[in-house]
Amino acid sequence: MPKPKVYVTRKFFDEAIDLIKSVADVEIFEGENDPIPRKLLKEKIADVDGLLPMLTDKVDGELMDLGKNLKVVSNYAVGYNNIVVPDATERGIIVTNTPGVLNDSTADCAFMLMMAISRRLVEVDKFVREGKWVKAWGPKMLLGSDVTGKTLGIVGLGRIGQGMVPRAKGFKMNVIYHNRNPSPEKEKRLGVEYREFDDLLNEADFVSLHVPLNDETRHLIGERELKLMKPTAFLINTSRGPVVNEKALTKALREKWIAGAGLDVLYNEPTEHDNPLLELDNVIVAPHIGSATTDTRLAMAMKAASNLVAALKGEKPPDIVNPEVLE
Ligand code: NAP
Repeated sequence: MPKPKVYVTRKFFDEAIDLIKSVADVEIFEGENDPIPRKLLKEKIADVDGLLPMLTDKVDGELMDLGKNLKVVSNYAVGYNNIVVPDATERGIIVTNTPGVLNDSTADCAFMLMMAISRRLVEVDKFVREGKWVKAWGPKMLLGSDVTGKTLGIVGLGRIGQGMVPRAKGFKMNVIYHNRNPSPEKEKRLGVEYREFDDLLNEADFVSLHVPLNDETRHLIGERELKLMKPTAFLINTSRGPVVNEKALTKALREKWIAGAGLDVLYNEPTEHDNPLLELDNVIVAPHIGSATTDTRLAMAMKAASNLVAALKGEKPPDIVNPEVLE
């Protein structure tokens, strides 16, 4: 019997490719960082059994209809908003993701953004590089805000949100959270308190977003919510760009409704250099690097490869997103 075929949409980790090769023939798009053109993806999907896409690749019904043999889409991310899962389920296609292995590095990234924006890291580095330090130093120069002892408001106390708690406790922070479903078990285990959404926005010195992007969470943070935050508070977003209404955030930062924002994600990724947010000093933007450490990205690759291999062998992949497809 001929081996199944798999297409991987970016240069990838050799260890993971070797694992996939144990059951399938593999073709890899040669792009290092650039997304595969949609037209090429449409050609490539035509005769593959498995697809391993990145979060910048939209996988919808139109694309899946071209993949006559397609059995599994193994996303290289925990968030799978780039995949129209109901379209996959309708067509009997398995969808998988890479949860868990990136919790710590993404929580580290959110915490790094909290520290960096509150202590103005990018601004002060620029100050030194521009040669201003040689002339200036004074007690009120480049003052920031404390993280220690402040209140962290976690929106979405899931795998990554929970990862924020020990980091915050290490900084003696008071931690409050909001989920759709309050969890007394998590409250007891982690030492955190539940708040209604508006109350959390009102009370937190740092609001950190850790929800998945879906119809319910798109624009979860807009003008109304930004106005509920304290003028001294910071917004941290490592979830997905469209969870925040970026126009409203730009206005809020420009007019100082809040003190600042640390963002790992934007509305459009990759972003345009003329994004008005980038003109502001009270925001730090990272290019979606939440999970970008060597160890974590390799662990994600092995997870994505294992999910793909399991599905191609007719087994239930450990990280299946639409298990109903197997019923
Ligand atoms: P998770 O374990 O599924 O946690 C998501 C949490 O959000 C759950 O606790 C859920 O609780 C809560 N939630 C869902 N909808 C909500 C709503 N409308 N309002 C309030 N809370 C809501 O997911 P995770 O693994 O922590 O990942 C979270 C997201 O982070 C991913 O989906 C991805 O988009 C993003 N991410 C980004 C990076 C990066 O590189 N920047 C890396 C990894 C992940 P309830 O169901 O009780 O509401």
